[in-house]
Amino acid sequence: MNRQTLTHPIRTQMFIDGRCAGSGDGRTFAVFDPATGDEIAQVPDATDADVDAAVFAARRAFEADTWRRLPPAARERLLLKLADLVEQHGDELAALETLNQGKLLGFSKMLEVGGSAQWLRYMAGWATKIEGSTVDLSLAFPPSVRYNASTRRVPVGVVAAIVPWNFPLLMAVWKIAPALACGCTVVLKPAEETPLTALRLAELAHEAGFPPGVFNVVTGRGETAGAALVRHPQIDKVTFTGSTEVGRIIGRQCASDLKRASLELGGKSPVIVLDDCDPRRAIEGAAGAIFFNHGQVCTAGSRLYVPRSRYDEIVGGIAQIARSTVLGSGFDAATQMGPLVSARHRDKVAGMIAQGRDEGGEIVAGGRASDRPGFFVEPTVIGNFDNRPLTVVAEEVFGPVLVAMPYDDVDEAIAAANASAYGLGASVWTSQLDRALRVIDGVEAGTVWVNTHNMVDPALPFGGFKASGIGREHGRAIIDAYTETKSVCIAY
Ligand code: NAD
Repeated sequence: MNRQTLTHPIRTQMFIDGRCAGSGDGRTFAVFDPATGDEIAQVPDATDADVDAAVFAARRAFEADTWRRLPPAARERLLLKLADLVEQHGDELAALETLNQGKLLGFSKMLEVGGSAQWLRYMAGWATKIEGSTVDLSLAFPPSVRYNASTRRVPVGVVAAIVPWNFPLLMAVWKIAPALACGCTVVLKPAEETPLTALRLAELAHEAGFPPGVFNVVTGRGETAGAALVRHPQIDKVTFTGSTEVGRIIGRQCASDLKRASLELGGKSPVIVLDDCDPRRAIEGAAGAIFFNHGQVCTAGSRLYVPRSRYDEIVGGIAQIARSTVLGSGFDAATQMGPLVSARHRDKVAGMIAQGRDEGGEIVAGGRASDRPGFFVEPTVIGNFDNRPLTVVAEEVFGPVLVAMPYDDVDEAIAAANASAYGLGASVWTSQLDRALRVIDGVEAGTVWVNTHNMVDPALPFGGFKASGIGREHGRAIIDAYTETKSVCIAY
């Protein structure tokens, strides 16, 4: 399979109010194949007026009785239909994702397409399970009056969903599926690097029968279209996944407007290897934790803490995997790691590796951008045996770059793991349950894995402590994210 698998022409128009749309002023920007650096499409560079049109379409669709007042089972049915369509067009969507994002085709199929179908079906199920409670009041007066009190969950309204480029289709579905299940309407803005699968998703949603305006997609730049969406007065809720830096900007705007906001932000997730671990499992697991999706994962295990006595063995094993990793196009079956998403990102990652070396880190494997065309960086292991305060230990790289540090006792490793602004994920590698539980108790992270890393599921709440975000996605938590509680009090 390759880009010729794209039996459908690449969709490059925005999707607003059930129709395709270009930008009001006709401007576009280029998107690229990161494996070659070639331009593959031009997409609209949305103006404020385009954002306005999309938000008003979503507002009209929200105010009409044709979405939020549908029987929940009707919303469920449409989401299930969309899941079916995503699967039916799975080969095409996977090829489009690999072409535009660069990830391995197998991961595009399994995670972007398979994961999206799974999330759509799981969230479809919540549509029929949103409920309130009855409440017995204590302060009822005057004594002759009785009260019947209850709560209802109502959709929060028009949602702006802004997503990053690392899992373009899946991140879009993480937002739209629960929002739509709860009866909200959505304007989605994909990342400027990777808009193509989101545009196709909107077309499939239209085919599934979603009413016009319920799900709109605008393409544009963060500082223009993204910012216009966030500050738009007709947006009730912003759900954002992206960098902590942009999350702070969006959080400030939402606080000022008193808009609801969910923020899924960056990470610097620790991988803590204990001395009783199965070494092969820990080495392969730690390598997978950082090199999966070329390190472009918010929970990437980018800080490795290893017992001093096993440092050479574990770090050497991971470095061996890094050195033997085959770089190439995600369409090539022999490829084990594809490109980074853009030239800009490749240069940023290579710059952070160089800074780590200049600050005293030891390059144990990799260490530079590849000479081949496209946006490749070698999988890199930086040894930090002296525990220096390297920038690459403190800041998110979002690339295939691991920093390894030794420790002498587990409490010291936990303290080092927690000495970070972030708190998204963490993993511990051990064969002893009680030792795993002590690390779980001590680590400050939204998700802690034991003998695995980066495992997510629609049923398991996901989100960050500290600068990794505010709020939780997935599981029952999505009801809180996309509904308001309305209390009802009836005197009789
Ligand atoms: P980014 O913050 O640069 O961009 C994310 C999105 O925000 C893009 O659509 C972009 O156009 C938009 N944007 C940029 N500036 C904006 C502004 N001023 N107003 C409104 N929107 C704006 O992030 P990225 O480089 O695309 O993605 C990588 C980041 O995403 C990493 O930090 C990673 O950890 C994070 N991430 C977090 C999670 C999570 O669930 N916590 C998941 C995936 C990625």
